[in-house]
Amino acid sequence: MTTTDELRTGGYIDAFCTKCDMLLGHTILAMVGTKVVKVKCNTCGVDHSYRGEAKPVKGVRTAAPKKAVPTWSVRMKGKNLAAARKYSAKENFQVDDVIVHATFGLGLVTANRGDKIDVMFQAFEKTLVNGKGS
Ligand SMILES: [Zn+2]
Repeated sequence: MTTTDELRTGGYIDAFCTKCDMLLGHTILAMVGTKVVKVKCNTCGVDHSYRGEAKPVKGVRTAAPKKAVPTWSVRMKGKNLAAARKYSAKENFQVDDVIVHATFGLGLVTANRGDKIDVMFQAFEKTLVNGKGS
């Protein structure tokens, strides 16, 4: 574990999503003691048991074909990077805002769910807290 984030129900965890076939941000739905047992994929919304960050090895069940999601560079094209706002949990960000995260660098807000935003960084997507100060 490299993360120091406190694990709690409703919290954020990286987990392997069998549906998306990717390591993605998940919301913790259920825990037993300090162990995460059930998570919900922040990308496809599917609930599943937590199996850690590794791709589970089982059967030959192939994942659904991936959606043709534009790549980061395509989506960032034409964005005004000079107008990128520094990410802070206190700020309110909207879809299509370009942000600069202290750790992850440049990112594009792809979804806004009120107090959470999904941000596409160059190599991965993250769910971040949004509008905590409002
Ligand atoms: Zn998923």
